Amino acid sequence: MTNKIIGKKTGKEYFVTIGLEIHAEMKTKTKMFCRCKNDPFNSKPNTNICPICTGQPGTLPYVNKQACKNVMKVGVALGSDLADFSEFDRKNYFYPDIPKAYQISQFQYPLVSGGSLVGVELERIHMEEDTATSIHKNGKSLVDYNRSSVPLMELVTRPVIHDAETAVKFAKELQLLLRTLGVSDANLEKGEMRIEANISLSENGYFDGDFSKLGVKTEVKNLNSFKVVGQAIEYEIKRHLAILEGEAEGEIVQETRGWDENEGATFSQRKKETSDDYRYFPDPDIPKYKFSELEEFSKEVLKKELPELPWEKRERYLTDYKIQADDVEFYLNNKAFDKIFSTAASLLDNNGYKKLSNYVSTDLAGLEKNDEEGSLENISGEQMALMVKMILEGELSSRGAKDLLLEMYKNGGEAKVIAKEKNLIQKSDEGELKKVVEEIITDNPKQTEDYKAGEEKLLQYFVGQGMKATRGSANPGVLAKLFKELL
Ligand code: ZN
Ligand code: MN
Repeated sequence: MTNKIIGKKTGKEYFVTIGLEIHAEMKTKTKMFCRCKNDPFNSKPNTNICPICTGQPGTLPYVNKQACKNVMKVGVALGSDLADFSEFDRKNYFYPDIPKAYQISQFQYPLVSGGSLVGVELERIHMEEDTATSIHKNGKSLVDYNRSSVPLMELVTRPVIHDAETAVKFAKELQLLLRTLGVSDANLEKGEMRIEANISLSENGYFDGDFSKLGVKTEVKNLNSFKVVGQAIEYEIKRHLAILEGEAEGEIVQETRGWDENEGATFSQRKKETSDDYRYFPDPDIPKYKFSELEEFSKEVLKKELPELPWEKRERYLTDYKIQADDVEFYLNNKAFDKIFSTAASLLDNNGYKKLSNYVSTDLAGLEKNDEEGSLENISGEQMALMVKMILEGELSSRGAKDLLLEMYKNGGEAKVIAKEKNLIQKSDEGELKKVVEEIITDNPKQTEDYKAGEEKLLQYFVGQGMKATRGSANPGVLAKLFKELL
């Protein structure tokens, strides 16, 4: 996780420092400070609103307990400290999407402090409210308050990341965690999860607690895919370097930059405010919380509510099933496939896991990807396990398995029944196949003679004839064995 760059022109050594700020909308029934439905994507604008989330004078907010618990669960999963005491603050700024002219956030006392993910240390996670959505069309600006005051968590890492790859890895793992905990859908494209990256280059080394060591940082926003997060960071590193080396004009100023997809470049949006500009102060309308006195918010209680965490599951799959790392990631990120795999795996043993995983992560995923008519819901883990057992026992060829899988995907049903109906069962009965083999030998005197004379390649020819005679239903392994014996 270290990335030093040597300037080509000056030969100077630059240390790259990256910090992330990630917002995620919490999945709760209601909004953060009122009882309106938490449904920001409701197609009808301004339907989930009330006097509180539209900032009417005289209204009083009350805190959504579940939203706070969700954030604290994330903290417990990341090994962070939970707040003994917490308060909410007003972050003051004026914009149409923030009807009170302040956002309720947390400044000095966040719910969560410290912890780490993929080796990257966190500074904090705090709770706040989302803004409304601005829509600009036909020269007009419209505001939809359905999203106003939706619970939002903001996670801040320490400035301890040194390359784009690690930043992306962190964000991906966080998304996986939020989804696993069920606290956020964390879709980047929908803005349910928003990643901002701070980038700076310094000649004075890496962060050691002293911020003055770091160079001037720029912040890139509106990064709506993991790919773009990586691209924007790489771009900023190059841009900073060029300016520092005197190869490009201008200077690096603390500012917020956006990402231009067409240009593949960042562009200046606005000079960055410092926290002083926001005039933070404790919100007098919301009581202070002594979480240490509330058992339901204790680490012990919240820990019991955690499901198996992504990194725990990853470890378990790799050790217990010994399948490929790519397959494991696929299951971690695709619940429906994981359900089929894990149910089937529990019914199989060491001999079956790899085969099973191939059929689920390659063949079945292929059917789903190619929009083949059918549904994953038609296939249960139980039937999948039965199919793999049939293959292992020689009853089903790999060709037959593909046909069977397609049929189950299209119309459901039981593996055994379909295999029989569709004539996919391989004939492995030696007594029955022996007759076929004898006939072929009699019908091919020339090849028989050549084989006996040492032309062993001809075995393939004989097996082929056997498959032909049984119209593909014979087990080629059994055929080969019989030919060897009888020739
Ligand atoms: Zn409301
Ligand atoms: Mn924020």
